[in-house]
Amino acid sequence: MVGDFPNKPLGGRDYPRTWDEFHDWFHDESACSSYVEQVRWPEGYVCPSCDEMDEPFRASRARLVCRHCRHQGSVTAGTIFEKTRTPLRSWFAAIWYITNQKHGVSALGMQRMLGLGSYQTAWTMMHRLRQAMVRPGRERLSGVVEVDETYVGGRTPAKGRRGRRRKKLAYQHDEYKSLVAIAVEIKEPKGFGRVRISRVEDSSEDSLLPFVCESIEPGSLVHTDGSWAYRSLSDSGYDRERKVVLGADDPPHVSLPGVHRVASLLKRWLLGTHQGSIKPHQIDAYLNEFTFRFNRRTSRSRGLLFYRLIQQAVMTEPLTYRQIADRRTTTYSGRWS
Ligand SMILES: [Zn+2]
Repeated sequence: MVGDFPNKPLGGRDYPRTWDEFHDWFHDESACSSYVEQVRWPEGYVCPSCDEMDEPFRASRARLVCRHCRHQGSVTAGTIFEKTRTPLRSWFAAIWYITNQKHGVSALGMQRMLGLGSYQTAWTMMHRLRQAMVRPGRERLSGVVEVDETYVGGRTPAKGRRGRRRKKLAYQHDEYKSLVAIAVEIKEPKGFGRVRISRVEDSSEDSLLPFVCESIEPGSLVHTDGSWAYRSLSDSGYDRERKVVLGADDPPHVSLPGVHRVASLLKRWLLGTHQGSIKPHQIDAYLNEFTFRFNRRTSRSRGLLFYRLIQQAVMTEPLTYRQIADRRTTTYSGRWS
């Protein structure tokens, strides 16, 4: 299902460049549904049942019937839009909005913007979109890559609170803290490339080594701290450089500046856009969104981001509200399973 993307999508032809153009293109459900079809099958319809490529019969604007095996499918089956009761126009507006806001948007903000009937609808949409933000089969990081772990997602309770109540809150917020591993490409002479971020169970080798292997191309030079967890990186095909700061007074950003920078941006984003406390079993979705934004931060065209997210949305199987809400604390490799 990992289709090759057309190399150079063009603004005005493949995606709308402005809000005005967006309105012109997506004036009704039928226009949205044609667009999904076009992005999903850029070379023409391929039957999901018999794999024949042929122009289908159209039972209705969104129901396609295969000429060969008579399989009936909808344009949105097997995408994050499958069986949604929310109009595609609202989905498209949500995607436009989410990719045009520099820091993204909360579910409440989305509900208000689209005038959705319930918070739960907005929340489920946001989670499906975050799920689509991870491109299947994406390439691993390479070159010089920093790796380290940090805690995110908790929040210190307000200063005014005292005594037992404050203690209880502090405890709850501590529970919300998740340990995440961060990998950042370091560019010469300066600057950062792409990132990968994942929740990990703990700082042990068993937790961190699988993260490194899934996130970084073998042969890369990996910068880490002195931790034992990374001692066998060379056995897995990596060059390792330990960035140990001997002077105890040196702050951590001296030794691993990339990870330090990304961690502080991530924490600020979680606090700002999402008001902090996110339960550990929900945080993976937010890490997906942060990664999507960070890795495309230099993209000059917001319309192109809209197009990329739609492309990924049509390749992503949908989750239901219950599946998202019931997601439990699985460790790194179990996410989205
Ligand atoms: Zn068929």
